[in-house]
Amino acid sequence: MKRTIIGFHRDEEGDWVAELDCGHGQHVRHRPPFVSRPWVTSAEGRESMLGRELDCLRCDRMEWPENYESHRRTPDFDEGSVPAGLRSDHTTKRGTWARIRVLSGALRYHVGAPIERSFRINPASPAVIVPEVPHRVETEGPVRFFVEFYRRRK
Ligand SMILES: [Zn+2]
Repeated sequence: MKRTIIGFHRDEEGDWVAELDCGHGQHVRHRPPFVSRPWVTSAEGRESMLGRELDCLRCDRMEWPENYESHRRTPDFDEGSVPAGLRSDHTTKRGTWARIRVLSGALRYHVGAPIERSFRINPASPAVIVPEVPHRVETEGPVRFFVEFYRRRK
């Protein structure tokens, strides 16, 4: 899915990495004649690309980003106390990842476009919530769970 470039850094090998607003990084190498991105070699060129979009395959794969830390969690919910908002499509904010942790029982987790997948989650398999992707939960019996929110480590 499309993600916005918010910065750049070099990796250990000195190659440029675009920092995306989802928390993932993506190499933007200039390796003529195979890959031509002359803009990445100058500060002005990189500056001019801030705010542009790149396709983030790691988001499509629901891949957990590096350097994120837990900073907040909901109370525990059960099948009777699940807020209505969690049962219909909603999203986390830009750059906010989250996990649904099931303490007991199981829960159905639906992820909307552009990922379009459904999962049955239980205590052994926490679910990944991808920033800005619509999702909802569905109960199918007794369950206890909470949602844990993560942010980029400073
Ligand atoms: Zn991403």
